[in-house]
Amino acid sequence: MERILITGAAGFLGSHLADRFLKEGFKVIGMDNYITGNPKNIEHLKKNPDFEFIEQDVSRYIDISGDLDYILHFASPASPIDYLKIPIQTLKVGSLGTHNVLGLAKAKKARVLVASTSEVYGDPLVHPQTEEYYGNVNPIGPRGVYDEAKRFQEAMTMAYHNFHGLETRIVRIFNTYGPRMRLNDGRVIPAFMGQILRGEDITVFGDGSQTRSFCYVDDQVEGIFRLLFSDYHLPVNIGNPEEISILDFAKEVIDLTGGKSKIIYKDLPVNDPMQRCPDITKARNILNWEPKIRRKEGLKKTFEYFKSLTREELYQTEHKDFSKYIKI
Ligand code: UDP
Repeated sequence: MERILITGAAGFLGSHLADRFLKEGFKVIGMDNYITGNPKNIEHLKKNPDFEFIEQDVSRYIDISGDLDYILHFASPASPIDYLKIPIQTLKVGSLGTHNVLGLAKAKKARVLVASTSEVYGDPLVHPQTEEYYGNVNPIGPRGVYDEAKRFQEAMTMAYHNFHGLETRIVRIFNTYGPRMRLNDGRVIPAFMGQILRGEDITVFGDGSQTRSFCYVDDQVEGIFRLLFSDYHLPVNIGNPEEISILDFAKEVIDLTGGKSKIIYKDLPVNDPMQRCPDITKARNILNWEPKIRRKEGLKKTFEYFKSLTREELYQTEHKDFSKYIKI
């Protein structure tokens, strides 16, 4: 059996990837320090003999015994609120963490796929975003800690590929959603659904004319799976090109859930990208991949998940206390 290490395995995407690779017959080693991950996301895997878990900060030296065939580097905070609360950890996991992962891959002769992001395009001036676009990023803005760490990650990954001949893959993930997102991570889908379930107003930032394109998690996982086993080492966008304004999206979520919430407006966060939509020509041509799950279907499944949370989880509106996880 082949062995794969997944960093960030207790996170939203990491845990879905762990499920998928176990289903495909791999031995999976999950790694997470739970700073933004949730033990509940992998609880169902703890009894699986093919799943092993190591609680560790990926920014620290990684020691894995035995053979390793693949590594997926998915450990990172991924929400703008997290970047403000844990900026140094965000920078470290994307830079030092990536360096550790690449070093481990080199030592084990493993193929590594790193999770990059549409944030490498910043507030884009090219639309839709192709992989050739270099981006428009503010290095010192509130998102800079994430964006620049991920840009560094791509540079480091390419350097290991070019200099050491390492087998590398880079996925640029656009907004992805589904069950196991953190209700209080501040991102738009958990935010709106939590507000609806608590009977609160829906908070649209700015005038809501900014756009996003939302990809359901199963589609995202399929794209990542295909990229890992492709022979393409340059970055590939994986996302859903169906674009919608945040205001229309708020109305759609209210309609779909039968919520009674009304929309209120709050200030637009600094450097909030005005338009985001992936050009997925590469994914279509190279991976023969495109998203299959329509937004309405995906949103319904996601809402079912949030509805299944306990009252305590639903009303725990305070942002997670990170202090106990932080060891600088
Ligand atoms: N947003 C909003 N209300 C919220 C949370 C987010 O209007 O309660 C907006 C946010 O300003 C951004 C979009 O929704 O334009 C997506 O935000 P998210 O944090 O999910 O991810 P981003 O794509 O900005 O990284």
